Amino acid sequence: RANVVRRALMKQETANAASAPLIHIVVSAAIAVIVAFAIQQGQRGEMTAGDFFIFFTALLSLLPPLKSLSSVNSVIQRGLAAAGSLFGLIDETPESSASGKLANRLCGTIEFRDVSYRYADRDVDALSSVSIAIKAGTRVAFVGASGSGKSTALSLLAGFYAPSAGSILVDGVPTHVIGLHALRENLSLVSQDVLLVSDSVARNIAFGDSMPPASQGDRASVDQGRVRIAALAAGADAFVSALPGGYDTNVGEDGGLLSGGQRQRIAIARAFYKNAPIVLFDEATSALDAQSELVVQQSLLALGEGRTVVQIAHRLSSIRDADEIFVFDGGRIVERGSHETLVALGGCYAALVKGQAA
Ligand code: ADP
Ligand code: MG
Repeated sequence: RANVVRRALMKQETANAASAPLIHIVVSAAIAVIVAFAIQQGQRGEMTAGDFFIFFTALLSLLPPLKSLSSVNSVIQRGLAAAGSLFGLIDETPESSASGKLANRLCGTIEFRDVSYRYADRDVDALSSVSIAIKAGTRVAFVGASGSGKSTALSLLAGFYAPSAGSILVDGVPTHVIGLHALRENLSLVSQDVLLVSDSVARNIAFGDSMPPASQGDRASVDQGRVRIAALAAGADAFVSALPGGYDTNVGEDGGLLSGGQRQRIAIARAFYKNAPIVLFDEATSALDAQSELVVQQSLLALGEGRTVVQIAHRLSSIRDADEIFVFDGGRIVERGSHETLVALGGCYAALVKGQAA
């Protein structure tokens, strides 16, 4: 691609370089012809010296505009080139599913190998040399102060960004080899700011499935039975059934109809429906009411059965029984282990637990 740009720039420069002298030659020739014509007329006495002076001055003042004509050409050419690459981008076919070498179901073993990440506009790493190994089917938690890198780690795992250094492996295969498409097929992202589309609850639950986006009217592609089962498992069936139109109720733009806890349960139902082996869970920062909190926790535990769960936890009470807890600080992992181990260690995690108990 860089080569194409270089060649185009060379071409443009050549055209620029060639067109300026060319126009000069043409203009000079024209002046020569006109001056010769004027001299001829002067000899015949049809033109005075004053006339000639005025004529000649007018002629000279024509030069600069003519010269600038050559730069107009290059501006037009540049515009056309830009339009060309813009339309090229629009016509670009999205990454095809064939590019992912493993379009099948992964087991869900995850490894971060010396992963660093720096956001483009920053001068410090958001993550530096993070190494984590997560066994398939286990539940791990990321904890740490705000800004310590938890969300960045989750985003890298979801393939939103590529690591600046190091690699992330799923089932022992680097994610860039697996390919975005296959990776996303195997991931469910559960969070309170889940993307809801302005459509029925049923379609929102089926939305995360790997099926290609169906047209609005195409209801057949949503398996109503599967939606109901997913909603039941997520503890969402009761409130959905109580909505005026049940599962056909339109959630409205951005799900304005639903509370935070309800949105989170829709996201969990969506994950059940999709049935991916890996679940990334971003716990709500805003407090849910005790009842929703309990339902969300219970349905998340059910969702975790037989899946790998990576959870960003703010309320440490929700991760007491996690298989492993990773404590983030300034983009590094400073402590790791079970709740009991970390409390006994008496370090950062123990301090966090004390802080929340108070
Ligand atoms: P946490 O989830 O633990 O609160 P984040 O992963 O969101 O931490 O942030 C880690 C660091 O990266 C912080 O210093 C934050 O300011 C920075 N950061 C997060 N997102 C972006 C972004 N989109 N652009 C630039 N910097 C970011
Ligand atoms: Mg965050």
